[in-house]
Amino acid sequence: MTKLKVIHVDMDAFYASIEQRDHAQYRNRPIVVGGNPNGRGVVSTASYEARKFGIHSAMPCRKAAELCPEAIFLPVDMDKYKEVSREIHSIFRAYTEIIEPISIDEAFLEIDNGEAIEIGKRIKEDICKNLRLTASVGVSYNKFIAKMASDMQKPDGLTVITPDQARRILPQLPIRKIWGVGEKTEKELNDIGIFTVNDLLQYDREFLLKNWGRRAHELLQLCQGIDESKVQIEQEIKSMGEETTLQEDTNDICMLRKYLKEFSTAIGKRMSKLGIKCYTVTVKIKFTDFKTITRSTTLSRSTSSALRIYQYSSHILVHRVPMNKPIRLIGLQVSNLVYPDEPVQISFL
Ligand SMILES: [Mg+2]
Repeated sequence: MTKLKVIHVDMDAFYASIEQRDHAQYRNRPIVVGGNPNGRGVVSTASYEARKFGIHSAMPCRKAAELCPEAIFLPVDMDKYKEVSREIHSIFRAYTEIIEPISIDEAFLEIDNGEAIEIGKRIKEDICKNLRLTASVGVSYNKFIAKMASDMQKPDGLTVITPDQARRILPQLPIRKIWGVGEKTEKELNDIGIFTVNDLLQYDREFLLKNWGRRAHELLQLCQGIDESKVQIEQEIKSMGEETTLQEDTNDICMLRKYLKEFSTAIGKRMSKLGIKCYTVTVKIKFTDFKTITRSTTLSRSTSSALRIYQYSSHILVHRVPMNKPIRLIGLQVSNLVYPDEPVQISFL
């Protein structure tokens, strides 16, 4: 028998719920965390009261204010949310060491003693009792199905999906619900007449494999409820970065470079503190029309020097970012990190 051993925990309207917990005056009110109604930026999290007006994450704040003029806009208090996230993880650790964080408010847990359902229930209770927050929990036999489960009865849900149930639920789902199917893939599939999981399963397999290779194979696996990826314990940070939505859209190179300088200083400081160095520097740009690009450089020697990171990112900005339309957001990220006790990466450059 296939064991139900994976739990997916997803906090409900995380940032907004924390603010409502901490401020009685925000309870039962439409709360939007991120930006302000006149300003720029996008919604990070909307409370369930705000979602009733059609407000959702990643929506421009201005649009949110139009949909719900009485919405209360609050700034993002990342330090506080991270602290709560740490508290949630310490609850997880009471039950298992095998934890894979996906984001600040989401994680996979693996439970090998056959008590995943009971533990899922207890984690929800602990979070509610100790932190006065709600989580939606999915329990299943692999990560993909567990994540699907947690999404099915939000908020405050506990959903268990057995292999039999998965076989019944999957075929009816829109193809977009499958992991890794974004807007672009969805359109490609729609173009050849695939709209649901069932459509894909019925489709000429040879054709799919021939045209899409590995991607088609992975998709077919998921559509049959097969996902062999392991719950991976995260040992270390893989990247770090900073970004900001500008006060107004601009092509002013001097100003953009000033932001890169600021980001480099902050990132360099964090890296030095942790003894980390990076090989790759990436600049992220979002244009006025929301089109986003990233441009990277991989260095021949790793660095944690703020000056070098600034020089490389500035070079990317000047030489590899088209300036034919105004820029709305600028970000800087370093990745390919080397940790102090790791052997030095061999350079091929
Ligand atoms: Mg969530």
